[in-house]
Amino acid sequence: MKVRINKLDVVFSQLVRSRVNFTCEKCGKYFPEDSRGGLHCSHFFGRSRHSVRWAPSNAAAHCHGCHTYLGANPIEFTEWIKAHLGQQRYDLLRVEANTPKRWKTHEKEELYQEMKAELERMESIHLGGYAGRIEFELMREVASRLAPERDVPGQKFWATTWGTR
Ligand SMILES: [Zn+2]
Repeated sequence: MKVRINKLDVVFSQLVRSRVNFTCEKCGKYFPEDSRGGLHCSHFFGRSRHSVRWAPSNAAAHCHGCHTYLGANPIEFTEWIKAHLGQQRYDLLRVEANTPKRWKTHEKEELYQEMKAELERMESIHLGGYAGRIEFELMREVASRLAPERDVPGQKFWATTWGTR
């Protein structure tokens, strides 16, 4: 199914790649500023799963080669994701991916604003000379606020799917 890319997808892709300072999370290749189109935002559960479309734990930065390879080898991709997230976070992500979610317009706008603020935060940290991984902070809060019913099973649910490690 072809899913149209919107402005949230664009910022989310920038966030996922900025999180790891534009380095492929599988092979470790670094992408300097003029070649970042070669580094993709790779979704584990596809964008048609609206509940996790912009969830930080549902995507990684992969170079074109690794993205293509993993896409063609789904069993290996699943193993990679499990190793990357850990079994518990993978299980939570899968539950969330299978939970229907219809984003209201105002929710998407709020998330978009949070994403832009998050991107500014990450970029300023990188500009300060830090080259390591930066975890998402702001979106965990907005996600929890937008769907408070999700907190019932425990904060952990949102913290692991939307937030940091
Ligand atoms: Zn790679």
